[in-house]
Amino acid sequence: QPATLGRGDAGSTKAAAHFVFVPLNEQGHLIPAVDTALLLATHGALCTIVAPPSTAARVRHTVDAARHSGLPVRLVEFPLDYAAAGLPEGADHADRIEPRYMMSYYRAVALLRAPIERYLRARAPYPTCVVSDFFNPWTTELAAGLGVPRLSFFCMCAFSILCQHNLERFHAFAGVEDSNEPVVVPGLETRRVVVTRAQAPGFLRGIPIPEWEVLADYIERARAEADGVIFNTFLELEPEYAAGYAAARGMKVWTVGPVSLYHQQAGAAATLASRGKGNNDTPAVDAAGCLRWLDGRDPGSVLYVCFGSIAQPEPKQVVELGLGLEASGHPFVWVVRNAGGYDEAVRGFLDELEARVAGRGLIVRGWAPQLAILSHAAAGGFVTHCGWNSMLEAIVAGLPVVTWPHFADQFLNEKMAVEVLGIGVSVGVKEPLTYQAVKKEIVVGRDVVEAAVRSVMGGGEEAERRRRRVRALAAKARAAVQEGGSSHANLLDLVKRFEPRDN
Ligand code: UDP
Repeated sequence: QPATLGRGDAGSTKAAAHFVFVPLNEQGHLIPAVDTALLLATHGALCTIVAPPSTAARVRHTVDAARHSGLPVRLVEFPLDYAAAGLPEGADHADRIEPRYMMSYYRAVALLRAPIERYLRARAPYPTCVVSDFFNPWTTELAAGLGVPRLSFFCMCAFSILCQHNLERFHAFAGVEDSNEPVVVPGLETRRVVVTRAQAPGFLRGIPIPEWEVLADYIERARAEADGVIFNTFLELEPEYAAGYAAARGMKVWTVGPVSLYHQQAGAAATLASRGKGNNDTPAVDAAGCLRWLDGRDPGSVLYVCFGSIAQPEPKQVVELGLGLEASGHPFVWVVRNAGGYDEAVRGFLDELEARVAGRGLIVRGWAPQLAILSHAAAGGFVTHCGWNSMLEAIVAGLPVVTWPHFADQFLNEKMAVEVLGIGVSVGVKEPLTYQAVKKEIVVGRDVVEAAVRSVMGGGEEAERRRRRVRALAAKARAAVQEGGSSHANLLDLVKRFEPRDN
């Protein structure tokens, strides 16, 4: 059922707010930032997305489709100066770059400040607000140079951001030697949450490279000095954590999600199956074929398995996961990212598994139309790495989750799903796969996979309760973005608040 988000007063003669979006070239950051821009444009604001060509390529088709539907949005490319930043030519996808070039990548993107500012000064209408991914701290200077406010864009939930923030500001890990020793997250009023330093080390913290700490400090300063925060979440999901973060930072928070619902409104559904697909090196599956396959399955019967755009399970893990899915007996769609990068043994294993489970299991080698799959009636559950976008997309679809965090905010997101919301079953991974640049050999066995899948997909009282809880949240999510809802109101507030002053 497409949501009616209610178009804004785009035909008004008053000058509109003009947001400049500066996203990060990681799918999990880029996709929701673009969706947020499109939602603001839906309500009449002009949105200019500025990006290097490789970033723009990933979202060009989504933005073009929105433009053709009449939304005031533009995507402007600024080439990177590879030589000046010491970055190898073409190494410009933050989610695929070799770690040793990461700093050069950030340097190269930061060098775009001057050309972006020149461009924005030369073309009317003048911007009224910069919205930047929190990983782009140099936008502090961009906004200051333009003389406009700057909002941080978070593609993470308020719960995880607040936990991380409190762990840092109250020095919760001070004196704790063992990175696997659990500590209580300070400053949460209504809930006791326990986490280890390995699970929540802070953004770019704990990596034994001095330059990273400098970047982490710069990012923290930029976050502290922002004029406000936009979250891809909705208020009813986590009111105390959104309010908690606003209070802790002393800044206004706008919850505007779930932004994926942009693609589920009438008129924008064309991009539902192709969102994020401009991911050039991973061949996209034939979305129509995938959806036809789902058409042939019973409602609520199919498990969707995907670890997002970065996580890449080790060969042993691919085999255990595959055997666990097979043993569970449930139909599944399993997304194997960069499947061509595995050796012959793993590729052969996947081929044989596919033959054995023909008709019951579909393996997608590459980029999958995740939103379209999750919103298909046949979908019944989601094995996720707990990236926040995936988690929120599961909630929108009303699907319980098997939680399998790999790194970054994913362990806190898992706590959100399992402990706070009660919509998930954990596979029990306790440590990130890579911590302080050291790779860990963590393999979840086939039996554990099978048990978690059976628990989420099966009958039984707890499984039913989980389903009821997540379906209730799905209804709240939809209500939030519709006329009268909290996210809808926050979008309108942003558009109004950042109108040009002389209106
Ligand atoms: N995604 C997709 N197809 C894929 C893999 C991922 O459409 O095959 C999308 C997914 O819907 C989500 C985003 O990519 O919007 C991944 O973001 P998330 O925060 O879940 O994880 P990350 O990739 O940042 O680890």
